[in-house]
This record gives sequence, structure tokens and C-alpha cells, in this order.
Amino acid sequence: MPTETDLARQYDTVCQEIAAACGACGRSAGEVLLLAVSKTHSVEKVLTVYQAGARDFGENYVQEGVEKIQAFEQLMPKSGAVWHFIGPLQSNKTQLVAMYFDWVHSVDRLKIAQRLSAQRPITQPTHPLNVCLQVNIDDETGKSGCTVADAIELAQAIAALPRLRLRGLMAIPAPVDKTLPENIQRAPFEALAALFKHIKEFLPNESAQYFDTLSMGMSDDYPHAIAAGSTMVRIGTAIFGAREYPPSI
Ligand SMILES: *Cc1c(COP(=O)(O)O)cnc(C)c1O
Repeated sequence: MPTETDLARQYDTVCQEIAAACGACGRSAGEVLLLAVSKTHSVEKVLTVYQAGARDFGENYVQEGVEKIQAFEQLMPKSGAVWHFIGPLQSNKTQLVAMYFDWVHSVDRLKIAQRLSAQRPITQPTHPLNVCLQVNIDDETGKSGCTVADAIELAQAIAALPRLRLRGLMAIPAPVDKTLPENIQRAPFEALAALFKHIKEFLPNESAQYFDTLSMGMSDDYPHAIAAGSTMVRIGTAIFGAREYPPSI
């Protein structure tokens, strides 16, 4: 079990490595937001990482996430924490997500987007709900995310929904062999970045101005994602340590 000091130190190390990865490709550290992926970890650990400076947290499972948000807000009212839903989303679970989360990175079909928009309470302080379209960037069968071919049309339809704000794209590329050349390791991230630019040109101006997020990069591969233009890295293991076991969904 990592201690509080371990967690704070690991969080600091990741922040420094993000800054170094930005420096290595001529970007400024402020261009990349660190999302601390707290799925399966306790609210106490979330609080420790919050106190070390984290403000954005990622959760994968609806019930666990909602319980953690509620517990955290009890411990730390008006915390300014921002909650991101990043896991697969079934249509019967959209309502809780629309009520409690600030962002959803894993929208991959119109039906889910329509439900989130209809169920987003207009009283939410951060209304509208920020969403990213998840793309199956390496077209692996059986994986979440829309196809590259469907992405433009879907992005246009989602951007038109009244209580959502389409912020960008998200992908979870298949792990690559670390012995391969860097350009090959970066290829799926470069592909998502290229698709992002292409889609932005096809959005009406009033939507394009908010389309600013490339959610890509995890503990194992985030320096490559940053080199390819990531604006949000989703890091779990490198901050919190190994996950014991995912709770049932
Ligand atoms: C779990 C998860 C992460 C974090 O993964 P690590 O390898 O622990 O950094 C990032 N994104 C998504 C969508 C996840 O499900």
C-alpha cells in the first residue's frame, strides 16, 4: 500500500515528467492537463492527491464514481475538483453520469450523446456537459470507440446537441512494443491528432471554438502522446500504484 507521502511524491514525479516531455518537443507544460485516474482507489487516496495539487480526476465505473464524488464533496466542499467519466458507458447508466460528472471522454455513439444531453440538469454549475468523442483509432475489432470513418459525422451531430459541449477526441490505442522505433510508437497518437485537425475544419465556428482537447496518453505511453499533441493525459498507475482489482461494473 502506498503511503500518503508516496502518493504525493508519485504525483509530483508525473508532473515533472509531463513538463519534461513538453520541453523535449517545444511545448509548454501548461498545454497538457494531468487527469489523475482514481478508479478502484479510495476517496482518502483521492484526497491525498488533491492535496498534492491534482484537480482533475478520472473514473471508469458509474456507481463507484458517483459514490466517490459524493464522499469527496462531503470531505472537501467547494473543492474545485473536476470529475471526468472515462469508462465504457451503457445507455441505462447515462443519467447518473449526466448528473454528477463534468466531462465524459467515452462518448462513442449518438444515442449515448443524446441521452446525456437530455439528462443533463440545466442547474448544474458547469452546464453544459463537456464531452469527447472516443475513436477506435487503430480499428481493433471489439474495442470501444467509433470508427475513424464515422467520426466526422458523429462529431457534427454531437456538437449540435443543446446541453453538451464537444471538446475533442479521446483514444486508447493498443499497447505497442517499446523496442520499436519512436515514430512507430507514436503513430496512433499522430493519427488521432490528424483526425482532430480534420474534424475541427468541418465543425461550424460556434462549435469549433470549443473543440480544443486531445485526450490521449496513459501511464505507459504518455510522453509519446504529448509529442503528438495531447492536451490531456489520463494517468492512473504512475500516480496511485497498481490497481488491486476493478470493481464489478
Ligand atoms: C484506467 C484508465 C486509464 C489509466 O491507465 P493507467 O495505465 O493506470 O495510467 C486511462 N484511461 C482510461 C480510459 C482508463 O480506463
